[in-house]
Amino acid sequence: MSRRILIAGNWKMNTRAASAAALAKCIVDAVGNSSSVEVALCPPAVYLHVVAEATAGTPVEVGAQNLYPSDDGAFTGELNAAMLTDVGCRFVILGHSERRQLMGETDADVSKKLHAALAGNLVPIVCVGETLDQREANETESVIETQVRGSLEGLDEVRAAGIVIAYEPVWAIGTGKTASKEQAEAVHAFIRELLSQMFSPSVAEQIRIQYGGSVKPNNAEELLAQPNIDGALVGGASLKVEDFAAIIAAGQ
Ligand code: PEP
Repeated sequence: MSRRILIAGNWKMNTRAASAAALAKCIVDAVGNSSSVEVALCPPAVYLHVVAEATAGTPVEVGAQNLYPSDDGAFTGELNAAMLTDVGCRFVILGHSERRQLMGETDADVSKKLHAALAGNLVPIVCVGETLDQREANETESVIETQVRGSLEGLDEVRAAGIVIAYEPVWAIGTGKTASKEQAEAVHAFIRELLSQMFSPSVAEQIRIQYGGSVKPNNAEELLAQPNIDGALVGGASLKVEDFAAIIAAGQ
C-alpha cells in the first residue's frame, strides 16, 4: 500500500511572530496549490495562530509541539487538544526526545497525550529513538520496542492506523550526524514489524513512520526512497526556506 509522505517542520523554540509568518508564507509559496507530499509546520504554541493564518486555505498544515492531556481546568501554563484544534492544528508532536530528556516525559505520559490527541481529533506524531550509548550497547531494538509499546499503550487498531511515528535517533538530532539510509531503514522495518504484531499487518502498513535527525537537502532523497520511511520530521533545516523546500521536493 502506498503511504503519503509527510514532511513536518519542528521549529522548536525559535522564531518571533513576524519571522514565523514570513517563514510560513515562504513555505506556502514553495508548496503551491497542491502537493503529493503532505506538509506541516509546527511552530511554538504562541505562534500557532500566526502560522494558521498564513497557511489558511493552502495545503500546508499546522501542528503543535506538545499538549496537556486534560479537558479545560486548573492546569496553569498548559494547552489541551481542544485549544490546539481551535487555533487550526491538525498534528501534534508527542514525546520528542528533548521533552523526554529535559522535561522528564515518560512513555506513560506520551500514552496519555496520545489518547487525548486522538480524542481531540489531532493526528499524533509519536517520537521514539535511542541514544548513542544505547545504540553502541546494541540496545536500539529493545529501547525502541519499549518506547513504542509504552507510548501506544491502550491504543486500538482503528485509531492506530491514523497515527504517525517519528523514529528520531537521539544522537542524530541537531548534531549534523544522520543515520545512514540502511541504519534508518532497518529501524523503520523493525518498528513496522512490531506494529504488525501489536495491531495487525494491514494496520502496520497504514501507519506512517517518519525519520528525524539532521535531515537536510543532501540526504533527504535517499532517506525518503527507503520502503519503510514515509516522511521526515525536520528540525534545524525547517527554519531555512530553501532547505525545507528542497526536502519537500525530495519527497515528491
Ligand atoms: C527534531 O528535533 O525533531 C530534529 C529532527 O532536529 P534536527 O533536524 O535539527 O536534527
